[in-house]
Amino acid sequence: MTAVEPIAAEAGRDFIRDIIQADLDSGRRTEVITRFPPEPNGYLHIGHAKSICLNFGVAAEFGGRCHLRFDDTNPTKEEQEYIDSIERDVRWLGFDWGPHLYYASGYFEQLYAWAEHLIRAGKAYVDDQSQDQIRETRGTLTEPGTNSPFRERSVEENLDLFHRMRKGEFPNGARVLRAKIDMASGNINLRDPVLYRILHAHHPRTGDAWCIYPSYDFTHGQSDAIEHITHSICTLEFEDHRPLYDWFLDNLPVPSKPHQYEFARLNITYTVLSKRVLTTLVRDKYVSGWDDPRMPTIAGLRRRGVPAEALRDFAKRIGVAKANSVVDMAMFDFSVREVLNRKAERRMAVLRPLKIVIENYPEGQTETLDAVNHPDDPGAGTRSLTFSRELFVERDDFQETPVKGFFRLSPGREVRLRWAYFITCKEVVKDASGEVVELRCTYDPSTKGGNAPDGRKVKATIHWVSAADSVPAEIRVYNQLFKTPAPTPATFAEDINPQSLEILTGARLEPSLAKIPVETAVQFERQGYFCPDPDSKPGALVFNRTIGLRDTWAKVAAGG
Ligand code: ATP
Ligand code: MG
Repeated sequence: MTAVEPIAAEAGRDFIRDIIQADLDSGRRTEVITRFPPEPNGYLHIGHAKSICLNFGVAAEFGGRCHLRFDDTNPTKEEQEYIDSIERDVRWLGFDWGPHLYYASGYFEQLYAWAEHLIRAGKAYVDDQSQDQIRETRGTLTEPGTNSPFRERSVEENLDLFHRMRKGEFPNGARVLRAKIDMASGNINLRDPVLYRILHAHHPRTGDAWCIYPSYDFTHGQSDAIEHITHSICTLEFEDHRPLYDWFLDNLPVPSKPHQYEFARLNITYTVLSKRVLTTLVRDKYVSGWDDPRMPTIAGLRRRGVPAEALRDFAKRIGVAKANSVVDMAMFDFSVREVLNRKAERRMAVLRPLKIVIENYPEGQTETLDAVNHPDDPGAGTRSLTFSRELFVERDDFQETPVKGFFRLSPGREVRLRWAYFITCKEVVKDASGEVVELRCTYDPSTKGGNAPDGRKVKATIHWVSAADSVPAEIRVYNQLFKTPAPTPATFAEDINPQSLEILTGARLEPSLAKIPVETAVQFERQGYFCPDPDSKPGALVFNRTIGLRDTWAKVAAGG
């Protein structure tokens, strides 16, 4: 028996890990092999991230391995684009399947042979009933189903018809292959489930080799068995399928005996976690694509600047349970802020610029000031800022007639410019319409670095950029895509938040921001976390807001 390292303490315990530990302790299992089995019919979302972290996580913790297997049995909905995106997203999340990349379609020949095996054993038959007839005769939760009139066909006739199904002699829907189990079973999944259906469709991987395709149930457990999966972890809706999963393993000469375990799927407020529903959002153009930063997809979150570590942290925090529940979106945001606060470098950016002129600063003069990149991480170093006579500050940081409690710029008021000097507002310049277009200020040269030698204090520190060397940028500010906690496709039109995207043009950034890699979030001091969007180009920078510094959504949702 292989020695098993005790699992890392920080990995946390849950019922899945307890089961695995018990299996290893008792010698029932000597290794741990899991798999993540996406159907390539859309992009992965945060729910899948939970499953990925669980499957790859336990494999790593118990010294085993995790396979990536595409469950590609439905050619009409599956595309290479989805396969590529799934591989990219799993890798980006920080997991590696090594050489263990598999496709259910790679097992089509074996599955076909096993279907023949069941027919020969008198445990499968070709049914000529239509899909509707099969549904109508399946019975209900309280009533048994009724046997198909084709249930007692001979083995020879079944084999002949099944071969001819494969050869393409029949149109779509003309016949199916069904398991012969029990039409009166209390578990509807055992009432002669469909194993193969006729579908004359091109498959992204097998091309036109097949015109019959196996069902999910006839594929999944056998694929697990072929790969010697030990713990086949899936979501709760498959609990009722487990007896069928086991029936196939018990009735086929499979090379190994995996066991299926179910855990609760992730649901989050104010979003939808279902590829089918996300497909609707993309197709009906509620969003710009699968990687729209408002989408709960891994690609969307990455584009928004959410680090992979935040998704892993979130998965760890929510844990793995056996009962379905809905997680508050604020919990995900918490993980995002927690990781970004630790990791993101600080920068200054002025989103809604107001020009200020430092009247006592010599024209044409500039000087270089040092700014710390991360307050808690000296290793992040410093960068240089250029100070000059003309600067931009945030429009919101000025009030001509300050309301009570407003301590930032107003006429006569002294404030600190971050990393620079104390300045005092002397005069307000307005245009013909009365709008404030410029502030005339003075600075105190003795306060370089932001402290007064005489010990006097100011009540506010504001951020700024130099007018001459700052760079312009478009800022895309994202808010929740939905304004209702539990949106559904039927009510999308009313559920969608019309303010989910706000575009600010004319922001000014400190020049070092032109060199930040795409999708890497930095903190714009006092504003939140932002990252360059893939649309960003030299000279036409575009930044996405990843998340604000504090949770302002709760207030908005409450109508505040
Ligand atoms: P969707 O409804 O989004 O299409 P799915 O279950 O059909 O989800 P699959 O591609 O079949 O999508 O899922 C791959 C794996 O991810 C499965 O093991 C599934 O159980 C798991 N998974 C899917 N959605 C969630 C979720 N919300 N929470 C946890 N695991 C999930
Ligand atoms: Mg599925």
